[in-house]
Amino acid sequence: MKKYDYLIVGAGLFGSIFAYEANKRGKKVLVIDKREHIGGNVYCEKIEDINVHKYGAHIFHTSNIEVWKYINQFCEFNNYINSPIAKYKNEIYNLPFNMNTFNKLWGVISPREAKEKIKNQVIESGIKEAKNLEEQAISLVGKDIYEKLIKGYTEKQWGRSAKELPTFIIKRLPVRFTYDNNYFNDRYQGIPLGGYNVIFEKMLKNVELKLGIDFFENREELEKKADKIVFTGMIDQFYNYKYGILEYRSLRFESEVLNEENYQGNAVINYNEREIPYTRIIEHKHFEFGNQNKTVITREYPVEWKQGDEPYYPVNDEKNNRLYEKYKALTENESKIIFGGRLADYKYYDMHNVIAEALKKVKKEFGE
Ligand code: FAD
Ligand code: UDP
Repeated sequence: MKKYDYLIVGAGLFGSIFAYEANKRGKKVLVIDKREHIGGNVYCEKIEDINVHKYGAHIFHTSNIEVWKYINQFCEFNNYINSPIAKYKNEIYNLPFNMNTFNKLWGVISPREAKEKIKNQVIESGIKEAKNLEEQAISLVGKDIYEKLIKGYTEKQWGRSAKELPTFIIKRLPVRFTYDNNYFNDRYQGIPLGGYNVIFEKMLKNVELKLGIDFFENREELEKKADKIVFTGMIDQFYNYKYGILEYRSLRFESEVLNEENYQGNAVINYNEREIPYTRIIEHKHFEFGNQNKTVITREYPVEWKQGDEPYYPVNDEKNNRLYEKYKALTENESKIIFGGRLADYKYYDMHNVIAEALKKVKKEFGE
């Protein structure tokens, strides 16, 4: 006997939105997650009264008004604006690449001078049409910035040469000829008051939830429990890796409680030279303008991914994208399974992308 209308695999953003919307429509839903908590990678852990972003810094940003209104029904956002600092050896630069960065690096004052400087470096490089991340970066900001702020960071983050990486990764970062250190171009930005867990607690309030359950350890039995499955885990694992393994980058987080009020003066400081093994240090209290006596910092170390490790970043190069397309073709024949989220779509989604995708799938499923 089937008990549920939907079995939802994954209590992250995609799974939780789907669960909330299905429950709202009177459907019977069971959400499982192999982790011991809800929220997926957005989860916060409270340490010393500070919301610690357990799986890396999460800043909400979007220009999509529908997405912004949607998420605001679950929480209120503060006015945090992300302005990370880049540290290269003993030099400090503002991010994203803007007039403050250009002034510090070259002493230029006007946008015209900065553009001229970059243009000359691009001409010197001889790049006409960027074919990889390195060429794309040099075409956007010139060789000086590439060498100090991009090459080392990128190669440690991705564990491969910037020449082997796709151009879209570096296009995530704005390049601006104004004195503006806002890391995002989006219309709306902030951190939920009280941390991200508030959102998931509300979404899953009326939904049956089982934590610490891995779908693949009990697949047959779980599949029988529901008419349909919403799957937000790894797409290649769903199909038993029949075409091969999709690659990821993983991360290791090292957190420390410090007996001081303010360690680094900013929520995010990137460490851009290759020789330092971590990419950034997060000081969590600054996301919420905290004034606790202590502070919690986290060093983020990129690590090679192997099966069984946490899959944080899909490696969307040509080889992996081709493989993903083969799995995607299989999903198109499934009438009882809905796939979504960063792992099932194998896409470098931000939170707002996941919300937009989840709402699209909800509309499709419920015929609205
Ligand atoms: P997930 O959050 O990964 O949720 C999937 C869930 O499914 C997980 O809880 C997992 O345990 C569970 N699961 C998987 N397989 C199984 C299984 N077999 N059985 C049971 N459960 C399973 N986005 C932003 O907008 N702003 C940011 O600043 C930002 N920073 C980020 C920083 C880092 C370091 C990372 C890695 C991501 C960042 N993101 C950011 C992206 C954001 O985390 C994702 O867009 C979002 O969390 C994806 O939600 P999801 O539901 O697709 O996946
Ligand atoms: N990047 C860089 N230097 C920086 C910050 C970012 O070279 O100081 C590059 C790097 O390749 C990174 C990409 O830009 O993977 C995207 O950066 P983003 O901050 O969007 O990464 P995320 O927060 O998703 O890890």
